Amino acid sequence: SWGSLSDKPVYDWSSEEEEPDGRARPIQVLLVKDDHTFELDEAALSRILLSAEVRDREVVAISVAGAFRKGKSFLMDFMLRYMYNHASEGWLGVADEPLTGFSWRGGSERETTGIQIWSEVFLVDKPDGTKVAVLLMDTQGTFDSQSTLRDSATVFALSTMISSMQVYNISQNVQEDDLQHLQLFTEYGRLAMEETFLKPFQSMIFLVRDWSFPYEFPYGQEGGMNFLEKRLKISENQHEELQNVRKHIHSCFTNISCFLMPHPGLKVATNPNFDGRIQEIDGEFINNLKVLVPWLLSPENIDVKEINGSKITCRGLLEYFKAYIKIYQG
Ligand code: GDP
Ligand code: MG
Repeated sequence: SWGSLSDKPVYDWSSEEEEPDGRARPIQVLLVKDDHTFELDEAALSRILLSAEVRDREVVAISVAGAFRKGKSFLMDFMLRYMYNHASEGWLGVADEPLTGFSWRGGSERETTGIQIWSEVFLVDKPDGTKVAVLLMDTQGTFDSQSTLRDSATVFALSTMISSMQVYNISQNVQEDDLQHLQLFTEYGRLAMEETFLKPFQSMIFLVRDWSFPYEFPYGQEGGMNFLEKRLKISENQHEELQNVRKHIHSCFTNISCFLMPHPGLKVATNPNFDGRIQEIDGEFINNLKVLVPWLLSPENIDVKEINGSKITCRGLLEYFKAYIKIYQG
């Protein structure tokens, strides 16, 4: 068994904005304000990325993005558990341990749009002997009206530009508008970047939540790949617009994959007092979580962030983050 996240002391932040006990927590580094301007908390981002242990390490940046209330933060908390338990056999922990980390909650109220990163950057030994820094990012978008769609596009574009793996969290299916959004978002990103012959982004993972057709395509990665291949197929008799969306997505990412997750059960989806303990989550969901999280995060599977073919350190990532945000601030 393992201690709860909140037991783990991390850095001794000597700043007033941080919690006095120095515990790891999510930090809002990018905020979209009500007037649709963007605010980057450069000081907070610098404290995290320039801390002595990580600043010169090559960085693996993992982002989860998508609309509100689709279980992104809930998933990220399991990713944190995996990281804090050093990818060990029993990483999932005990049945009655409440889930902590990024805040996640029920209800349908709107939240802020922006990017949060976990204040602790994890050091991981890759099988090839390198030690890399792993950064976890939680991204929020609204996708609900014209004005906020632009905000969401920018947040999504930025998080895709600075991550080595973008997990696109979507509900139930990959709909045509999910693909259109992805096209819009990546176009936003590509326009802001230097032109190169390389594909601009690294890995894109379509994570379909509450998949309900396992008899057609089974849960998991293989079922996901077969499903996605069908959805992203380009054919002659398709409308040109549909073909273009698909061509665009293929041209943007070095790796594209998909994972189909089952529904976690009614307690997770509807009980306001549910605190994340795994004994109240459907077994099928847990079984797939045990596959999904190591597939995303195991030391052999994580990839260092590359920009224009060069590997990036935490220090370098900070510079890119600052440069990219300037473009959107206009
Ligand atoms: P976020 O806004 O995307 O970060 O969503 P949250 O992680 O805060 O979760 C929103 C609500 O959805 C919470 O009540 C969770 O218990 C619930 N939830 C988490 N994962 C899933 C899932 O896979 N399917 C469904 N239907 N609900 C989920
Ligand atoms: Mg969230």
